[in-house]
Order: sequence, then C-alpha cells, then structure tokens
Amino acid sequence: MTQIHEIAVPDVGDKGALSVAEILVKAGDLVWADDPLVTVESGKAVVDVPAPVDGTITKVTVAVGDSVTVGCVVVVMTASREQRPRRQLPEATDPSVPRHFSLFAAFTAASQANTPPEELSCELLVLGAGPGGYSAAFRAADLGLDTIVVERYPIMGGVCLNVGCIPSKALLHLTIAMEEAIGMAKTGIDFALPHIDIDKLRSHKAKVVGQLTGGLAGMAKARKVRTVFGNGRFRDAHSVEVELAVGAGKGMGARQVIHFKKCIIAAGSHPVHLPFLPRDERIVDSTGALELRFVPQKMLVIGGGIIGLEMATVYSALGALIDVVEMQDSLMPGPDRDLVGIWEKQNRHRFDDIMLKTRTVAVDARDDGLWVRFEGEDAPAEARRYDMILQAAGRKPNGMGIDADKAGISVSAAGFIPVDCRMASNVPHIFAVGDIVGMPLLAHKAVHQAHVAAESAAGLASSYDSSLIPGVAYTHPEIAWVGLSEDLAKQMGVEVDVARFPWAASGRAIANGADYGMTKLLFDRTSGTILGGAIVGPSAGDMIGEITLAISLKCDAAAIGKAIHHPHPTLGETIGMAAHVAHGTCTDLPAMQSRRS
Ligand SMILES: Cc1cc2nc3c(=O)[nH]c(=O)nc-3n(C[C@H](O)[C@H](O)[C@H](O)COP(=O)(O)OP(=O)(O)OC[C@H]3O[C@@H](n4cnc5c(N)ncnc54)[C@H](O)[C@@H]3O)c2cc1C
Repeated sequence: MTQIHEIAVPDVGDKGALSVAEILVKAGDLVWADDPLVTVESGKAVVDVPAPVDGTITKVTVAVGDSVTVGCVVVVMTASREQRPRRQLPEATDPSVPRHFSLFAAFTAASQANTPPEELSCELLVLGAGPGGYSAAFRAADLGLDTIVVERYPIMGGVCLNVGCIPSKALLHLTIAMEEAIGMAKTGIDFALPHIDIDKLRSHKAKVVGQLTGGLAGMAKARKVRTVFGNGRFRDAHSVEVELAVGAGKGMGARQVIHFKKCIIAAGSHPVHLPFLPRDERIVDSTGALELRFVPQKMLVIGGGIIGLEMATVYSALGALIDVVEMQDSLMPGPDRDLVGIWEKQNRHRFDDIMLKTRTVAVDARDDGLWVRFEGEDAPAEARRYDMILQAAGRKPNGMGIDADKAGISVSAAGFIPVDCRMASNVPHIFAVGDIVGMPLLAHKAVHQAHVAAESAAGLASSYDSSLIPGVAYTHPEIAWVGLSEDLAKQMGVEVDVARFPWAASGRAIANGADYGMTKLLFDRTSGTILGGAIVGPSAGDMIGEITLAISLKCDAAAIGKAIHHPHPTLGETIGMAAHVAHGTCTDLPAMQSRRS
C-alpha cells in the first residue's frame, strides 16, 4: 500500500510568526530522505523542512510568503517502495553548492555530530554564536582549544547574520539600487517604474542569510568545534546547564550539563521594547521590520538612531511615507552634525515629519490603524494614524538572562558584564565579548574582542584597544566616521586643524551623481598627526578603513596625500585631496580654498 506522508513545519524554537521563504520542490519530484523541501523563516532563523523518507512529491500546499505555524502541513508526499541509490550530498563548504543543500547538510551534520551524552566537558565553552561567539570559538579552536559553542536558536550567526547587519544590508542594497535606477531618468536612462515583488525580496534576503549561516555551521564542523543548540545558564563557575532546542538531538526541554575550564560569554543583546506600546502585529522592532511582512502606507519610526534610519530608508524606498520621532535634538547620534546635515538634505523626501525633542506617549491600536499621541517640542496637537510602528529605541544587553551570579560574575544594573583589556570578567577564567560588554554595539567590535578573548583564554598576551572603532550608517548616502570628531574636539578643547574636501570637486563623485558628498580629516595642531576623519557619500563605509589605518599608523597629511595611494578617478581620492587641503595646497580646489601656500 502506498504510504502517504504529510510533512509539517517543525518547532524551530521561535514562537514568533513564521513564513515560507522558499519552495524547493514541486508535485512529481523524486526526493530522498533528508532532502530540503521548503524553507521557513522566522525572525531569528531560516530552517529547511526535510523529507522524512525517499519518495515522490504529491502536493505542495503553501506558496512563498505564506504565514505558517508549527504543525502546519506544507508538503504531501508518497514514500517510494523500491530501494533507490543514495545521492551524494555536496560538501557544505563548497560555495558553488545551492544554499539549501549546504545549509541543510551542514546543519544536520553539526546536529548529528553533537548528539549529546548526559554531560559534556571541554576546555573552552562559548555562550552565544553571534559574531562574538563564533569568532571566539573559531579562533580558540585554531589555537588548539577543545571548544563547545552553546547557542539558544538552532542556527549560528546571532543578531548580525540573522536579524541585523546582513539582512538589513541585503534590503538596503536592493532598495538603494532601485532608487538610483529611478534617479537616472534625468541623465537619459529612463526605466519603467519598478514592480516590487515583496515575496521574492524576502526570499532573496533569506538566501543571503542562509548562505552565511550555513557556511558557519560547516566551518564549525571543519574545526571540530562542537555546537549545542539550547538556552545556556551558569550552574557555577565551571559549568552551564543547557535547555536543549530542536536540532540538538534530544527533543524540546531536555537538559545538558557542560563542564568547562574556561568560558567566553558572547550572549549579545536584544531590542528595547517600550512598555506603553500595546501588543499588536503592526508594531514591530528591527527584527519584525526585517521580516518585511507588508509595506505600510504610513509608518512611524520611534528613535532616530542608525537602525531606525536604515529601516526607514528601506521602507521609504518601497513606498512608505515615514515620520520619525526622536527625544534628542537631532537625528543619528555619533557623526559630526555637518555630515548629518548633508545626509538630511539628501533624505528630506523620505520623511513627512521629523519630530525632534519629542516622545511618543500613547498608542491606541484600532482596526483602522495605530493612533499615536506625542509630547514635546515638535509634537502635533492631535493623535496621528499609522499603519506600522517601528520601535528602534535602542538595545539592551543579555547579561541578566544567564544566571551569571551563580558563577560569581559581576553584571551592571544595565545588564553589561564589565571586563578588563584581556576581556576577562571579575572571574579570571571567564571572559566576555561583544554587545554584552558595552558600547558601541557593533559586529566588528565583537569580532575583535572575540579574538582577544580567545587568545587570552589560550594563554597568549593579547589586549583590546577601544580607541579606534569606525562607525557607519549604511543609509543613502552612507556616513562613516572614526577617531576624534570635530564636535568632540570642540567640546574637549583639543586644538585641531580640520581639512574638508567637498565632493563637488571630485571627478568621480560628479560622474556618479554624488557631488554633495564630503570627506573631512582632523589633524593634531602641534604634531600634525591625523586624529580622526569622516565621510558622507556613497561607499563611505568602504573607505573609512583607510582613515582608520592612517590614524593607527600615526600618519600626517604628507604621508596620506603625497604618495600615489589613490587611483583616478575614485571616491577614495577624496581622502588624499583632504590631506592636500590640510597640507596647504590642493590643486583640485580653487587657490582661495588652500589654507597655506
Ligand atoms: C537591524 C540591525 C542592524 C545592524 N547593523 C549593523 C551593522 O551594519 N554593522 C555592525 O557592526 N553592527 C550592526 N548591528 C549590531 C550587531 O548586529 C551586533 O553588534 C552584533 O550582532 C553583536 O554580536 P554579539 O556576538 O555580541 O551578539 P549577538 O549577535 O546578539 O549574538 C548573541 C548570541 O547569543 C545567543 N544567546 C543569548 N543568550 C543565550 C543563552 N542564554 N544561551 C545560549 N545562547 C544565547 C543569542 O541567541 C545570539 O545568537 C545591527 C543590529 C541590528 C539589530
């Protein structure tokens, strides 16, 4: 008799909304047991639903973009009666392999390799598999430490890969490219208005994420780093107890004790949820916004920081009208105000209203929309109606959720774990890195700290230098900055020479339609060495590294500008030109703008 199998969405350990990101089979396809059939995506994970047996697909019951829940049937298939030869699964680490194979192969391999005994032990336990956690684990394994990573979601990559840097940049890249294409009409290339297929956009984002997270699972396996998926909490200063998640080989609720000699905590942070906001699916945090469930007509962004403004860029490019409400007196804290001013001029069209020194005080969720009342300098007198609210009011460290006290680890009232320059906590064999140790909450900072912590745990001399961490807003245009800012120099009374190069004098910027940009360098007035720099314009984030390197090498303007570092015509030339300005003569600017002869 033909055996019919109804294949349902498994418990992915996330109670939030799930949606179908990709369908990998159609009726009539022959499949092997464990082949991925459908990819479902939650805010936190991308998981393939596999075939339980060899057989033939009868029906696919969902479409890309459908909302699904755990237990919902997605595919019906019949089991094959004859024995078929096994298909060789491609190597997980081969970049040419389609994502669903590499992700699935790597994920199952990692899970199976980890079928846990009752108790495990290791030299180094890493709690959390975000950029801080996986970088620490991989560096430690490369140094010869027997390492286990514990991650509460059944996928590696943390906030950055799953619900942060990478999905946001995937969406920003596409939506900014679309805006640039539309903007070409005035130059003689006129495209038809774009048709936006939000389902495809979402599944593209899921593919980008899956490619990276699948790669991580493969790299863990190749390094013999064991991964245990579940929520870990300290029992004492040498063990954690993990409540295992799906994929860990023991079913939900099972517990695993892991003993360690040393530990690196990389448990990250979570979005702040404003207590007065009602629970309503139209009110989202950054994770919810990245799910791209729908494009609202009218959207309120609470918080004018980088995350809020990046998501505002995406949604406005997709057609939403945006209001921003910010308690401070300006948007985007961090870079100098003159750069933010240039950004604001280029972005004015995105915003119906920017309310500064204003806060949201109440939200009434009605059928016809979210009615919001405000208080403060720019507050409107009447409540305003929105179709979606993004709360981007900051992030909180996860220091309170790991029973750190049982290991004797100090945690601040805000939830941060204080560390020294070796990344050691007050308990010398327990280190901490990334968002959980303090500002700035940035992935490249987490990775750098992770390497220092792993090296310290391995007994090497290593230390973390917090003085030079570049920041980037990946908006359109981008703003990037590093080192001392002009605003801070003024506040601190540091005497600096400031050299600005306006992109209106850069051939490449004019050719690219980016002549509004600016590059600025700050030099110590006495020694002449570079102390800081900032750029506003496309690709600013890709160029800031050069200024960071110049600061760390203590270069002066001559070292930056006098040699042929920059090919022509490039946007990078603007850094050399700004150094020329500082040096006193810039042949790409009128003589009157040279400060010295
Ligand atoms: C929308 C958005 C965009 C961003 N864009 C950028 C950007 O462009 N550039 C940039 O540098 N930064 C960006 N960030 C910030 C960046 O994502 C974080 O700084 C980075 O992820 C921090 O890394 P981490 O390893 O410290 O923590 P996380 O990435 O938060 O990882 C921590 C991991 O620990 C796990 N964990 C927590 N508690 C436990 C537990 N008890 N047991 C087991 N596992 C646990 C979590 O599930 C998570 O996987 C962005 C953030 C957001 C939200």
